[in-house]
Amino acid sequence: MIRGYAEEISKMYSDIRENEARLLKQRREKIQNDLPVVFNLEKKIAKLCIDLAVNSFKDIDDRENYLSNLKNEITNLRVKKSELLVANGYSQDYVSLQYKCNKCKDTGYIGSTKCSCYKQKLVKLYYKNSYHNSMLASNNFEHFNIDYYSTQRTNNDPRSPRKNMEDTIIPYVMDYLKNFPATKNNLLFYGSSGTGKTFLSNCIAKDLLDKGFLVIYRTSDDIIHDLKKVKFENDHNLENLLLNCDLLILDDLGTEQITDFSSTELFNLLNKKLLMNKKMLISSNYALEKLSRTYSERITSRLFGDFTLFKFYGDDIRIKTNLQRQKQ
Ligand SMILES: [Zn+2]
Repeated sequence: MIRGYAEEISKMYSDIRENEARLLKQRREKIQNDLPVVFNLEKKIAKLCIDLAVNSFKDIDDRENYLSNLKNEITNLRVKKSELLVANGYSQDYVSLQYKCNKCKDTGYIGSTKCSCYKQKLVKLYYKNSYHNSMLASNNFEHFNIDYYSTQRTNNDPRSPRKNMEDTIIPYVMDYLKNFPATKNNLLFYGSSGTGKTFLSNCIAKDLLDKGFLVIYRTSDDIIHDLKKVKFENDHNLENLLLNCDLLILDDLGTEQITDFSSTELFNLLNKKLLMNKKMLISSNYALEKLSRTYSERITSRLFGDFTLFKFYGDDIRIKTNLQRQKQ
């Protein structure tokens, strides 16, 4: 869905405006039947407003005084209109156009700047349309069960998968979420498949989306497709979304087809986001050595230097099966 989101949001705004216009028409018809005197006042106000505009530029005797009287008269009539509506059980703006967002008058923009309500719509749209929606119903902290992680140490890992999760990863993540707007940290989750990296990434996404942050989740394959769209089709809206979202989750780094294009553009994306202090969460099934063998030095130096690294331990079948079960 993230392609073409701008059109969808623009449609959301035009639907809101059309709906408001329709409701206004109904309200005015009701007043026309119940309290038509309101419209007499409206007509008088409109006439005086025209007088005011016309006479503002005319050379007439005692202009200031005349204009000031006109303004007072307009104000008095407006008050009278409001009072009349309220006295009859209507809100004072009953016969005026009402906005869901007064700041941008339901256009999404204040001048050329996006209104804060635009982002709320984007989050909603993203939530509603993405495959993520169904995923996040089960992949969230409510369903996170530490018991899936073994208390047995395996291989040469210094701690058990459970200890690793309990003492290092979860406390860090909780803290990260609590301080999310202020933190500048990027996270790199790595370790073998089936250790819960994607599950935890989804938990993080859900938590932040629920708080109104824009989280974009892409697999590394998706992101390469997106970067092609940006590069060859000049999709600025998409670029803007990838660069400016509150958190970009890049899942399964290493599974994409690695080409000159993907390496260059991936580096550019990482670099731009780091320069802009825009947060990322990357996960990979590759160990650090394999990441350095797979990617150029300039990519890995960013990954190892600008990200907080978390190794997910254990190749625990219980984690795999339980997580798998939760996905369904
Ligand atoms: Zn707005």
